[in-house]
Amino acid sequence: MKLTIIGYWGGYPKKNGASSGYLLEHDGFQLLIDCGSGVLAKLQNVLEPENLDAVIISHYHPDHTADIGVLQHARLIQGFLGKDFPPLPIYGHHYDQYEFTKLTYKNITTGIAYDPAESLVIGPFQITFLKTDHPVPCYAMRIEAGGKVIIYTADSAFKEEFIEFGQGADVLLCECNFYGNQSGKAAGHMNSLEAGRFANHAGVKQLILTHLPHYGNLSDLLSEASSEFTGIIKLAEEFQIISL
Ligand code: ZN
Repeated sequence: MKLTIIGYWGGYPKKNGASSGYLLEHDGFQLLIDCGSGVLAKLQNVLEPENLDAVIISHYHPDHTADIGVLQHARLIQGFLGKDFPPLPIYGHHYDQYEFTKLTYKNITTGIAYDPAESLVIGPFQITFLKTDHPVPCYAMRIEAGGKVIIYTADSAFKEEFIEFGQGADVLLCECNFYGNQSGKAAGHMNSLEAGRFANHAGVKQLILTHLPHYGNLSDLLSEASSEFTGIIKLAEEFQIISL
């Protein structure tokens, strides 16, 4: 698997940046995980939007979904210009019917509801879900392909079930919206110490902190998480590639 970070800011994109968007590739299949504000502009540095094979959405907060509409426009316009490609499947949960409906647009994109109780196959990826602790229904994903495992927490306060869900993963892509001296619980987010503890207890190989705050010194997140986890820890960066 090859993971490329497209956007990593929590809440909204920082100047010239992007909020949540992660491109996952395996066997030539291109899956975009979340499509937040700024993602479409950034994605085009890596991949033409018409070459995406599927999109999956963790939840319907705008920092994870804002660019779905413009992704639909991109594919519509490239179609007008003569390019030929099939409708793009966009997987999302259906516990917000209004938002789910927007995943389908003409014959350009097709919304497909995933059942979080079941495992889902998208191209070469096998995905299982865990409901997170967040103000709206949101699902963490355990994504497996080629014998490797990536955990994407999406947005969540820490919950004990994460430990088993993330057990032995090669990469833990963990939201980290707060510093160690703050509690993210009320907002439905994790802090750096919780991210480190999660990585440690789940025995993951590598921790990537994402969904980052707009204030403070981001390198503090690294040092705080490393007080709980002695494995590899990185801050998400634009166009960072993690090959597994
Ligand atoms: Zn959210």
